[in-house]
Amino acid sequence: MSPSLSPQSANFWLEEGGDRRMRWKLGSCHCGAVRFKVLTADAIEAVECNCSICRKTGFLHLIVSKDRFRLLMGEDKLTNYGFNTGTAKHLFCSVCGVKSFYVPRSHPEGFSVNVRCLDEGAVKVAMVVPFDGEHWEEAKARIADAEAPR
Ligand SMILES: [Zn+2]
Repeated sequence: MSPSLSPQSANFWLEEGGDRRMRWKLGSCHCGAVRFKVLTADAIEAVECNCSICRKTGFLHLIVSKDRFRLLMGEDKLTNYGFNTGTAKHLFCSVCGVKSFYVPRSHPEGFSVNVRCLDEGAVKVAMVVPFDGEHWEEAKARIADAEAPR
């Protein structure tokens, strides 16, 4: 099965290695206390969610498995904000308040990196895919359907 860019495909949601060329890209919070790198293609499909917190923070998601994420510094500066089910770990920098990455409820074994916190020019956003996080259960169920073998 070849990767597809369609929102119906699972590939856009949890970015898989596929045969696309991957490179480590650097990112950070605003003050630079928290710094990380993520292994990803040069051109990405980012996910924009309309749930209560993503709407207010303007978070632009790049969701990756945990082996493609490394926290380089600032672990001691990270604070967790939890709400609702508490599954998601909304990690933000206790110095500047910026949430540059976190552990999403949809992928508790992975990370969602804020594309807006990657270094300037690190990636090109080829497509922004909406996720209806305001109706999380239904939206997640649709993703699961897409992941099911045809
Ligand atoms: Zn900071």
